[in-house]
This record gives sequence, C-alpha cells and structure tokens, in this order.
Amino acid sequence: MEKTRVPEAKTEQTSGLRARLGRIKVRGYYWPVRTIVQLGFFILFSGIGIMSLIPAFNGTRSWIVLPIVSSVKSQAQVTSTMDAITLFLENGLFPWLPLGIMLVVGAILGRFMCGWICPVGFLQDVITSVKGRVDSVEKRAHLYWIRLKYALVVLAFLISGSLGLAVYYGVGSDYRTSLGPLADGLFVAITPDGTLFGTLPAILAGSWRFLGTAQSSDLTFGNLSSWFGHISALTWLNVVVLVGFVYAAWRIPRFWCRYVCPVGAIMAVTQKNSLLGMHRDPIKCSECKECETACPMQIPILDLDWKKFNDSECILCMACIDACPAGALSPKFP
Ligand code: SF4
Ligand code: SF4
Repeated sequence: MEKTRVPEAKTEQTSGLRARLGRIKVRGYYWPVRTIVQLGFFILFSGIGIMSLIPAFNGTRSWIVLPIVSSVKSQAQVTSTMDAITLFLENGLFPWLPLGIMLVVGAILGRFMCGWICPVGFLQDVITSVKGRVDSVEKRAHLYWIRLKYALVVLAFLISGSLGLAVYYGVGSDYRTSLGPLADGLFVAITPDGTLFGTLPAILAGSWRFLGTAQSSDLTFGNLSSWFGHISALTWLNVVVLVGFVYAAWRIPRFWCRYVCPVGAIMAVTQKNSLLGMHRDPIKCSECKECETACPMQIPILDLDWKKFNDSECILCMACIDACPAGALSPKFP
C-alpha cells in the first residue's frame, strides 16, 4: 500500500509550567487488562470454572455463539460460530445466525475477539510469553502459508455444505455415514481446544473412575493394553494435532491464527473494512520498528496507511501500542 504524505510537525512550547506539566505522562499499558480479559474468557470457554463451581453441571450449552474457536466438544457454555455453521449445515439448515453474528461483529470490531477473547489465541499467547520472544517467519514463506487457512475454510464449507444439501434433499443419511467424524465438520473433528477441554478430560475422568474402583489385581498389562486399544484413531489424531499445535505455537507466535484457523480466515475478510482499526502518528513515530518486532501476527505496520490501518491479519491485540517507545500508535474507531 502506498504511504500517504506525512504532515508538517507542529512547533511545541518547550518551557513554562504548562509545558513541563504536559511532559509528565503516566503511561498505561494494554497487556495487563488484555491478560485479565483473556483469562476470564478462557475459564468461561474451557468450562473449568463452571465444572468446579457447579458440580452438577451437565455440559448444557447456552445459545451464545461468538467468532472465536470454542469447540462443541468442550465443556464450554459458548460455541464457536464456525462449529455452529457446520452443525446448522449438517441438519440441512442455512446458518443465518452464526454467519450474521460474524458479519456484524466483524464489521464493527474486525478481529478484536481473536486478540482479546478467543481461548485458543490466549493459549498461544501464553506459550509465546513463556518463550519470552516473538519470532518471525521469512516474509515470502509467511505470505505463502497465510493462504492455507483460506483453503481449509473452503474445504470445511465444501464438506459441510454438501452434507447440508444432501440432508435438505432427503438423501443425507448414507452420505453422513460415509463422512464419519467429518460429518460434524472438519474443524469440530480436529480443533485443539475440543481435545484439550472435551476429549482428554473425558478420558481422564474415565481413567480416574477406573482407578478409584480398581483392585490391584485389575492393573494388569492385559487390562492396560485393552484400555489403550479402546482409544479411537480419531482421538489419537486429535492428540497429535494438539501436540503439533503447542509445538507450532512455540516456534511461531499465533501459528494457528496465522495459517490454520477457519474463524480467523473469515474474520480476516471483515477486518479489512471494520470500524475499529489502528492509527500511527507519523510525527511521533521514529520508525524504530519496535512495534513490528512485538507484533505476533507479523504485520508490516510501517508500510501501512498511518491514518488508519486495517490489515486482514491484525487481531487488534494492541501489543504494538505497548511496544512503541514514542507512543505513536493508538486504536482508531471508526
Ligand atoms: S484466529 Fe486465533 S484468535 Fe482468532 S478465532 Fe482463530 S484461534 Fe481464535
Ligand atoms: S498490528 Fe498491533 S494490534 Fe495488530 S496484530 Fe500487530 S501488534 Fe496486534
């Protein structure tokens, strides 16, 4: 994108009490607030809080669907719009509600929920914080792999859309059987949070119950191998995806969000024209690139329009604002 001409710098008053007071600034940071917000939503989505606070909680979900990753397989109250879309289609219904929510939220807030609300995004941020460094990918490879998530979302829609049409015309049951676990949606079958908050806790609870009632004579090699043998191929695939997700997040910040996430792919389209965006003050900016170094999505901030930038990959996490020593960046609405 072309850079717009930078306006002339204004002459500043440099002496006097008013000028001195003006220079005393208490700087606020976004990251503590964002971490608290992310943690709160993480507990809500993962169901950890609900399960421990209400022992009788039976996994009933609320009607709330949001443009984040929150698998229907997890013990959460809130569902991802992507999972809701595939479940609507699986039942031969057009997904007006989840699609509408994505478009409305995207038009106003863009990918804000990726940066502040999504539990899978939060997990990756925690991994990057533990690592203590925001690594980047070679530019050409990064731009190439960004396309992967769009290909995956098209594949997910092809699978669920064709099943939806088959169900609508009353010939869906054989097709559903032939799709196997993919009938619930490509991403319902593989998302790491479904494994972490749904599949694995269920397996652990089963093992815990077994260990609670087992006699020492039950703990034989034969029983243990039969227990392992009952774990399905899909569950093993889920575990592999989960381990791969953690490793990838360790190597590359927000790997899943950059290259894989279907919700991120759809919201990236809305982010381009969302009311909420970012602004860079070209007078304060010394082009030190601290913001680009801190950006988990590798946005080329200095190449974008300073008045307002809405890069499709920007998750509005505000890490660049916190990193900027000159205080040149700020959110911009509208
Ligand atoms: S792109 Fe990342 S933050 Fe956004 S919905 Fe997907 S996993 Fe969550
Ligand atoms: S440009 Fe700033 S707000 Fe956008 S993703 Fe990068 S660090 Fe976050």
